[in-house]
Amino acid sequence: MPTECPGIPARLAAVHDRVADAARAAGRDPREVRVLLATKTQDAETVLAGVRAAVDLAAAAGDVRPVLVGENRVQELVAKAPALADLVGAGKVEAHLIGHLQKNKVNQVLAAATAVDSVDSLALATALSTRCQRDGRALDVLVQVNVSGEASKSGVAPDEAGALAVDVAALPGLRLAGFMTIGARSDDEALVRAGFARLRAVRDAVLASGAPGTRDARELSMGMTGDLELAVAEGATVVRVGTAVFGARPTPAR
Ligand SMILES: *Cc1c(COP(=O)(O)O)cnc(C)c1O
Repeated sequence: MPTECPGIPARLAAVHDRVADAARAAGRDPREVRVLLATKTQDAETVLAGVRAAVDLAAAAGDVRPVLVGENRVQELVAKAPALADLVGAGKVEAHLIGHLQKNKVNQVLAAATAVDSVDSLALATALSTRCQRDGRALDVLVQVNVSGEASKSGVAPDEAGALAVDVAALPGLRLAGFMTIGARSDDEALVRAGFARLRAVRDAVLASGAPGTRDARELSMGMTGDLELAVAEGATVVRVGTAVFGARPTPAR
């Protein structure tokens, strides 16, 4: 049988090189920045090829942390969950939801995800908390912030993000691990960077608050194929990459 997706390992290695170069340029340790595989529209086989490439790269670097995989839609997350179940069960892969979540899909998402990176309301967080308590489990969450103010993007407004994060952090069954944003869709690098800097400022304020449950809220998930260098320069701890690893998507994103 021919090897599927022969380009993925090389492309993933190139992404890691981009991240490492950007980190060094910013005076950061490249290991502070992880790459999450954004897998929307890719079939399970392609996702697995990406995961295997990531496992190999991590092993070569002596990195024992799990590989991060992110899906936008609950339906896709659920559909691909069986292909990843063994790896997730073994602690080798974390499956994140990185797209908008409706409250009525909380049960479905909890059956398939190890983390929800797109918490944007207290109502949603409360629904996740209630369900996690009932199941006796803990869930890592990020608060998604709309730093660009673009109407097409989900996320809480930057002005309200700190208060939401403090409320989320206090909910049982949830562990606030940090913040997520999608950068402004713009060629103006200063504008994009300012948005990422805004997310970092939100994070720093929440960490400094000392509010219950906020101590672990260190992650900054920001930066994608087109803007990951800017995000790393502004402190990203996770970049979410699809196109640069898997190639252009057959259908428009979303
Ligand atoms: C699609 C997507 C990504 C990856 O985008 P690319 O430009 O393909 O790297 C990252 N984060 C989210 C939330 C996405 O929807």
